[in-house]
Amino acid sequence: MFDTTEMGPFGIRRLSPPPAINRQGAGLGPVWKAVTLALLLSATAAADPVVAKEGTGIAWDITADLTTEIGARLAGTDREAAARDWAVARLKKLGFANVRVEPFTIPGWVRGAEDAHLIHPYPHRLAITALGNSAPTPAGGLDGDLVYFATLDDLKAAPAGALAGKIAFIDHAMKPTQDGSSYGPMGVVRRLGPAIAAGKGAAAAIIRSIGTDNHRNPHAGGTSFDEGTAPIPAGAVANPDADLIARIARTGKPMRLNLVLESKAVGPLPSGNVIAEIPGRDRSLPPVLLACHLDSWDLGTGAIDNAAGCGIITAAAKQVQAAGAPLRTIRLLWAGSEEVGLLGGKAYAAAHGGEPHAVAMESDFGADKVWRVHFNVGPDNVALADRIAAALARMGIHRGNDRATGGPDVRAIIDRQKPAVIDLKQDGTRYFDLHHTPDDTLDKVDPAHLDQNVAAWTAVVGIVANEPGPMAGN
Ligand code: ZN
Ligand code: ZN
Repeated sequence: MFDTTEMGPFGIRRLSPPPAINRQGAGLGPVWKAVTLALLLSATAAADPVVAKEGTGIAWDITADLTTEIGARLAGTDREAAARDWAVARLKKLGFANVRVEPFTIPGWVRGAEDAHLIHPYPHRLAITALGNSAPTPAGGLDGDLVYFATLDDLKAAPAGALAGKIAFIDHAMKPTQDGSSYGPMGVVRRLGPAIAAGKGAAAAIIRSIGTDNHRNPHAGGTSFDEGTAPIPAGAVANPDADLIARIARTGKPMRLNLVLESKAVGPLPSGNVIAEIPGRDRSLPPVLLACHLDSWDLGTGAIDNAAGCGIITAAAKQVQAAGAPLRTIRLLWAGSEEVGLLGGKAYAAAHGGEPHAVAMESDFGADKVWRVHFNVGPDNVALADRIAAALARMGIHRGNDRATGGPDVRAIIDRQKPAVIDLKQDGTRYFDLHHTPDDTLDKVDPAHLDQNVAAWTAVVGIVANEPGPMAGN
């Protein structure tokens, strides 16, 4: 695609005009040559929309290099192990202290072949992916009647045993929101739907992907089965395929599906958290904890979820250090096994629950701009929060009224210790178009937005890491 290009100085791609246009321009006056050139340039731009913007700096380099040199890094796999090695090497190279892996084991689950064919009333191959913790289908796949439920509540209302030997399809209506608030009520369809279907005797369950795009991409993600519920095969189909199923369901014609999902549980697998620190001038003060997660789902390369988050917190820590050693230690937690049950965050809290933490923050909502800040601070830190809010207001980030809850990898330590919590809320309007899909790749990260994240994080971390007084949340 770039055979007419070459790299100019400073890495800027220089476009050589195709010869056909030179011929068109030959013999014309200068005005017409200029018009022709303008048309050529606009045509070139329109025909070449896939040139991704390249960024610079620590956050960009981490995001680009982790997604390029490691890529997909499903929890428990050798790719997650390779990511830990990569992270240790990178964090040491950046000059962090006490860089180490804190290992733990997780219940293993590996992806296998996956395919789905609607065989009645109309033949269609569906774009499907298995949900984490899905049980495998029998050899040769599973044929079953497909029973449509418009909502999770409709499934809950189905009589016990109503789905014996059948495949449940669970629809929903997730809409994009700036604050990502639709993930809570819609994400439950994925997390609980298959177990509820299993409880009514279903042989398998399929959901509409928890996502807001209209691409032919299924969205991965975990589901869970209670102790007393035997796991069944569970998958998510791409939104256009869910639309197809819903359309056929409205006709009342019975549907039949052949399903192949060979993903399965395996024995315990190794995982681990990567920790790195910038030592504070006063080691007696509780540290500032900044988190992201290192593992990813395995359909894309885990750029927005969550290489960018690791890039943002790491770049901010280094920028704060560049202004002089901070008063408090800044500790980075690049957590493992977030996607499969927040297991890294739980392991961190188990290992470090006895050490007090001043404040906990996480970046795990993509790489688009920070637009709002939320706090959870005690009465002694009201002035501190006001100072942070004022610094962010100068960057166009406003203060919201919600209580900060931290991200998935700091939730366990927050529950245990109630440190101060600050949430830098990113614009999530397009997050669930990409989340857990093959489209979660580097080109979706806008370097300017990434830089704005780093600036906002640097402002906040610079203040809290140099705050001498006690910090706590509610
Ligand atoms: Zn994430
Ligand atoms: Zn995720």
